[in-house]
Amino acid sequence: MNASSTSMDELLALSAAHHHKLCPRQVLGVRAGLLAGLLLDLTLPQSDKRLIAISETDGCFVDGLAAATGCYVGRRTLRIEDYGKTAATFVDTVTEHAVRIHPQKSARELAWNYAASARNKWEAQLIGYQHIPDDLLLQWQRVELTTSIKQIVGQAGKRVSCEICGEEIINQREVIREGTVLCQPCAGGSYFRFSSDPNHMRTLENICHTAA
Ligand SMILES: [Zn+2]
Ligand SMILES: [Zn+2]
Repeated sequence: MNASSTSMDELLALSAAHHHKLCPRQVLGVRAGLLAGLLLDLTLPQSDKRLIAISETDGCFVDGLAAATGCYVGRRTLRIEDYGKTAATFVDTVTEHAVRIHPQKSARELAWNYAASARNKWEAQLIGYQHIPDDLLLQWQRVELTTSIKQIVGQAGKRVSCEICGEEIINQREVIREGTVLCQPCAGGSYFRFSSDPNHMRTLENICHTAA
C-alpha cells in the first residue's frame, strides 16, 4: 500500500536538510506528497517528470512536498500558484488525473491527541502531523485543470524573441497579439517596471573601487 520508496523519517530529514529545521508545515507537505502517491498510484519520490505538483503557497509546505514527491522547480515539475493556501494539486501527466490535497481544519487541534510528549502548540503539530491518519489529517478531491497540463508545462526547447524588447522567451511563454510575438511584460502583464532613479544601485565603477 506504500507508494513511497523512502520512509517518512527519511523524507522529513531530506526536507529539513533544505530548510532551517524541521517544522509542522514541512510535515504537512511530506504527508500531502505521500498521499498523492497513493491516490495516483505512483511510486514517489519520482526520478522522472511524470508527476507535476502545483502548490498554492511557497514556504515550508513546499519543501516537504518536494522531498516526498521529487517534484522540484529546477526540474520543471513543481509550480507555485500563490493563493496563500496550504494546498496543492498533483497531476499525473500520463493519465491526466489530478487530485487537490489540503489539511483538515481540525488538524491543528487534533495534533494534541497524537503528540502526548508535546510541550507547546508547535511541538504538538510537529509530532502530531506525523501520526494523524491520512483521512483525519488531510482532505482530497479529484479536480480538473482549467488549462491543460501541456500548456501549463509548455514545450521545452521552444525559443522565440519578443518583437518589442528583443529578449528571448522559452517554454512557450510568449503572447501572440495580432500576429506579433510579445513577452508577457511587453504585453502589459509584468511584476516590474524599469526604474528611472539613477542612484538606487551601486555602479560597477563604484564596486571595483571599493574592492580594490
Ligand atoms: Zn519551516
Ligand atoms: Zn518584450
